Amino acid sequence: MVDEDVYYYLVRPDSLTVWGDENVRRILTWYYRVMKQIYPPRYIIAKHIEVPRDIGDWRSFSADELFNLHRELRRSFRDVWNKVYNGDIDVNEFRREYSSNNFLEVKIEIAKRLVNPCRLCERRCMVNRYDGHRGVCGLDSVSRVASAFLHMGEEAPLVPSGTIFFTGCSFKCVFCQNWDISQRPFNGEIVDPQYLARISHILASKGARNINYVGGNPDQNLHVIIESLRYFNDWIPLLWNSNMYMTIEALELLLDIMDIWLPDFKYGNNECGFKLSRVHNYYNVVTRNLKIVYGYGGEIIIRHLVLPNHIECCTKPVLRWIADNTPNVLVNIMDQYRPEHMVVREPWRFKDIARRPKYKEMEEAYSYADKLGIIYRPIS
Ligand code: SF4
Repeated sequence: MVDEDVYYYLVRPDSLTVWGDENVRRILTWYYRVMKQIYPPRYIIAKHIEVPRDIGDWRSFSADELFNLHRELRRSFRDVWNKVYNGDIDVNEFRREYSSNNFLEVKIEIAKRLVNPCRLCERRCMVNRYDGHRGVCGLDSVSRVASAFLHMGEEAPLVPSGTIFFTGCSFKCVFCQNWDISQRPFNGEIVDPQYLARISHILASKGARNINYVGGNPDQNLHVIIESLRYFNDWIPLLWNSNMYMTIEALELLLDIMDIWLPDFKYGNNECGFKLSRVHNYYNVVTRNLKIVYGYGGEIIIRHLVLPNHIECCTKPVLRWIADNTPNVLVNIMDQYRPEHMVVREPWRFKDIARRPKYKEMEEAYSYADKLGIIYRPIS
């Protein structure tokens, strides 16, 4: 053990002992090896996938042409990634210089276009955020960070997590515990891509096991986050900690470069999603996106916050969906719900969730997860 490991062991012993769990090691194989710097992170591999010279000036391409190029480059990326995973390539190759005309640059260009008109999330506001117009999330094109620090309270395999809290969110959850930043998009310090890369580097240097993009919600800031990777070169896993309501176009950009996913899966139907987060089509969008990430081989820890009186309509359908569709993921069944934000201000409107979940409700959630074979015990 090195000194930092001793410190983390004292603060969060489970951050080390969790790796003795067979399921955790199996499900988070890629993440573990990137965390230990045995493999390069995905975004570093993406930087080493060069755009063929005969493609010419791809920055003048239409959006469709750019997505076609992205698809083509993904094939090369997948070949190389498979070789890394199977040990068929010397990983020191990825410590060498790379061309500035690479797969990551194509992603940066596409991400900028998705901000005007904005279709980063399924709200599809279609406003030009570069002109200062703001959609439902309330953000213009500038990203703001409310805080960044080594988080010791995340799931055991992630601790200490280099967590970066962005402002703004596409959701309007009435019980939001981070409402001061999610619903106040200007409540943070402006960061450009270089500054964000610097913050990430400082977190990595301080011993973070990952760079954890969260908020608020990170999807609305994806264009700045992806561009920051141009200036970042640390071998550390990248983690996307999101409400999973992004568009397929946005998700496509993230699939190749995120080493681990930490999505919320809150509601087991569209109606609760609209009633409590003011968002349309919640269940369909989130399950669609989870399936895509899982199908791409993404390593996932799904968070499900148990809401009082929502066991039958939300907790059970969520757990059932996970068991049927994404069995090889870890699940954090969270018991820490407490009334916050609008639920405290106007409890008469949200009577069903105006208390903490009961012991009996949590037991019901756990025993249902056990019955389905959900893997949650090592981290919940
Ligand atoms: S990120 Fe989503 S909520 Fe924000 S402007 Fe774009 S489409 Fe609208």
